[in-house]
Amino acid sequence: MNFPVDTITLFKSLISRSKKVLVTTHYNPDGDAVGASLALYHFLVKFGHQVDLIIPNDLPSFLKWMPGSEKLLIYNDNPETCNEIIHNAEVIFCLDFNALSRVRYYSDELSKATGFKVLIDHHLQPSDEFDLSLSEIKVSSTSELVYQLVSELSYEHLIDKPIAECLVVGIMTDTGSFSYSCDTPETFRIMASLIEKGAGIERIHRLVYDTYSESRMRLLGHCLSRRLKVIHELNTAYIWLSKDDLTEFNYQPGDTEGVVNYALSIENVSLAALFTERDDRIRISLRSKGNFSVNEFARLHFNGGGHRNAAGADSFVSLKETLDLFENIIAGYREQLNNNSF
Ligand code: 5GP
Ligand code: MN
Repeated sequence: MNFPVDTITLFKSLISRSKKVLVTTHYNPDGDAVGASLALYHFLVKFGHQVDLIIPNDLPSFLKWMPGSEKLLIYNDNPETCNEIIHNAEVIFCLDFNALSRVRYYSDELSKATGFKVLIDHHLQPSDEFDLSLSEIKVSSTSELVYQLVSELSYEHLIDKPIAECLVVGIMTDTGSFSYSCDTPETFRIMASLIEKGAGIERIHRLVYDTYSESRMRLLGHCLSRRLKVIHELNTAYIWLSKDDLTEFNYQPGDTEGVVNYALSIENVSLAALFTERDDRIRISLRSKGNFSVNEFARLHFNGGGHRNAAGADSFVSLKETLDLFENIIAGYREQLNNNSF
């Protein structure tokens, strides 16, 4: 990808002199959020910067092996220290999210912070809260964008094994192990180069996907056998989980990652959703095939957002009311859902 020349010049000058730098990412950080952030962290450290990494809440256990994960500061665990870092940072890199509200707990702090805010992201509709925006919705992942940026800056030679591994995690998880958002040869050229840098794909895949706890696997079984509803006439399938379900299966953060994709895997299903009951909200994960935009759907009906085929949102009424509301809303999309081509 060709970045605007002035963006590259600005980037070069930003990283040229040692500074206090903050790298941060979105609430419930996923593989791409953590992968891109840790990769940028390792890269900036090579330039002698004093780099801090803040994530809003803990990362799922299947990402804890990642190189540098011990450096991650969890905002929730220590808000005072994190606020100090936020306010002292000269440059703030915001990775894998498109609006400050997505960090949830410290959006106001970020908004008040005087550091130069740089967005590196691939979500639709980036907000204008940043001083420099590197937003490219066509790439598979923010991790791919970080690779492209490093390459445009002519620093590809600085990508070592830890950076390569972090970037592979981001690209692998945001493409669902290369099953969507990856019909681009460039993604695979980058993967080839990351393998050359020492990232072992088999090993990383095993660490990310083959480390289910028994209770996580049984929770998946429960979702598919008892909590899946298929509405054939609307080409829609959804799964719901109550707080009691989560308790029964000893839910840990990350345990429902990927569950919504099983609903989408059903033949003819164009729209899939997962509803998870939390203490203060119902978390909604949406996925679609083809032209049906769950980004628009989430924005319009649940104040959420994301990508065309993967989005998230929250609902603040009960689980039952949320499911009824969802069924009512999708009835209005009958034509679109029945004529969706994929
Ligand atoms: P997930 O269902 O995996 O939580 O999220 C799917 C995609 O939508 C991710 O790319 C995520 O960053 C984005 N996303 C999730 N929740 C929200 C939300 O509440 N608002 C916006 N704008 N994007 C979201
Ligand atoms: Mn991403």
